[in-house]
Amino acid sequence: MEVAQGYSIAFKGLKNGHHDFRFEVGKPLFDAFGNTEVRDCACEVSVGLERAETLLVFDVRITGHVVVACDRCLEDCRIPVDFEGRLMVRFSEEEHEYDGEVLWLVPGEDEVDLAQYIYESIVLSLPYQRVHPEGECDPDMLGRFRIVSDEEFASIEAGAGGEERRGGEWAKLAELRERMEPGGRSSGDDAKD
Ligand SMILES: [Zn+2]
Repeated sequence: MEVAQGYSIAFKGLKNGHHDFRFEVGKPLFDAFGNTEVRDCACEVSVGLERAETLLVFDVRITGHVVVACDRCLEDCRIPVDFEGRLMVRFSEEEHEYDGEVLWLVPGEDEVDLAQYIYESIVLSLPYQRVHPEGECDPDMLGRFRIVSDEEFASIEAGAGGEERRGGEWAKLAELRERMEPGGRSSGDDAKD
């Protein structure tokens, strides 16, 4: 097991062949990338490096969990992480875009920073819907929300975007918003039609 700084692997001094590394990922990685969605993280990253003269192959396995807000009750929700991926590093004087598979380094570089790769791999591995298993949401929190149905939501959106303002709830909302805007139009200005 080699010792690495942060999430960097200094490959220069390594012999060709196989090397293993291990990292721990906590919340600071998400803070570093300005991610406020992930409230906590406890993941372990194991990296198998196959080092050759002109190619480095990293086989990365990330396991553990992150804590995010539940989409339904907003309470902490633990999402398991189990990711496996391969990152290849090649060398070139020319600039190449990172395409998600091959990372290009300038010859002479002596370390690879895996922070971004690890960060993105965890974020992209999270499911689209993040909710507690059925029945495990916080009932107190659920009680505080009025569930807005898709239909209601669509009608609010239509009201916000369309020319025709709807009456009832929407008109009241618009009125309220106008009153709350500092220096908003006075009631006389827009009553000309
Ligand atoms: Zn929940």
